[in-house]
Amino acid sequence: MKNPALKPYCRQVMSRDNDVIRFKMERSTLEIDDPDGSIFAFIRLLDGARGVEEIASECRLTAREVEEGLALLDRHRLLACGTADPIGLTEREQIRYKNNLTYFSLYESLNESRFDFQKKLKNATVAVVGLGGGSVIAAWLAAMGVGRIVGVDFDRVELNNLNRQFFYTEDDVGEYKTIALQRRLHALNRDVKVEVHQRRIESAQSLVDIAAEADMMVSAIDTPPLMGSRYVNAACLHRRIPSYYLSIGNRLGFYFRVLPYESGCTDCRVLHIMRTDPVTAGRIRRQVAGAAADADTGNPGFAPNVAVMTALVASDIAKQLTGYSAISDMPFGLVPFHDMDISRRSIPRYSDCPSCGRSADPGTDEWVEPVALERLLEVAEEAAPLSGERENR
Ligand SMILES: [Zn+2]
Repeated sequence: MKNPALKPYCRQVMSRDNDVIRFKMERSTLEIDDPDGSIFAFIRLLDGARGVEEIASECRLTAREVEEGLALLDRHRLLACGTADPIGLTEREQIRYKNNLTYFSLYESLNESRFDFQKKLKNATVAVVGLGGGSVIAAWLAAMGVGRIVGVDFDRVELNNLNRQFFYTEDDVGEYKTIALQRRLHALNRDVKVEVHQRRIESAQSLVDIAAEADMMVSAIDTPPLMGSRYVNAACLHRRIPSYYLSIGNRLGFYFRVLPYESGCTDCRVLHIMRTDPVTAGRIRRQVAGAAADADTGNPGFAPNVAVMTALVASDIAKQLTGYSAISDMPFGLVPFHDMDISRRSIPRYSDCPSCGRSADPGTDEWVEPVALERLLEVAEEAAPLSGERENR
């Protein structure tokens, strides 16, 4: 073990009163009983200059007791990784990501350093499907140092995109979003590999090759309505990689994460709506039946709202890729724009989901496409919401 050291900020938040040591963190307080002051003396010796034996002899503890004390502090991420090895990061990257590394140092442990977290980002591939709002997510990813970004779109940059897709500039208007994204990402971070596909998404099959080479995929497409995200979902279930979805509506936005065959998928979400939310269910039914579309009220995309939603997705992706902090076990986030008071919930995984339920067969290579929407709605009606068919995890 390297010489243990208390993280510098921990000294600032540590106090000892009435025989109790307290580490008062932003969201929690760790309390350790210390009637004779020996633990306080022990913690003061964690300066990175002394080894376990030396600490033990100076504060009259056994080596085993010192190790137990260190394990406790390390579980609470209070110990620095010491002279951690930046191998795998170039000197330029260590400078470029200096503040990332400072941030990650708050979460590092004796076994996993801040450099390890940054290297996980560097070695990751994230695919972003839909380069409208997706272009902003791609920019967050490039800035934080995700090593390979794959962008998929077929559209061109329009002047009216720039009010919210602010990673593009006026010079990009008229250009394919894929080409513009590649140029902008290169200008932002030349160490990031960027691959783009000029592709209209009309099936899950058209994403399978991209999912095969990605660690995770983000769906920021709104066409074809209802189906675009289901294609992404099917391709990611097929390749067993996590996927993210976001949508920005009039007064609120939502985003969610699917862990394949663990949390509810896009089709589970449709089943959930059809069984629990009659108003939205009615709208989906009308849409699927091809009834007159709701009146076109335009796109309410507004830059601050897009920034918040895309940043929430990027933040979750960073946690998922590095494990520096646990991801929420409630993967659905709802954001009302008037007060940005985010609420979280889970999406149940339904056992009768045609995409990820018991009838889905993840082992078959040929099976990729989601069932037709009409069929999905039939499935939703086959079981009553409270029949016990629901499989909450
Ligand atoms: Zn499902």
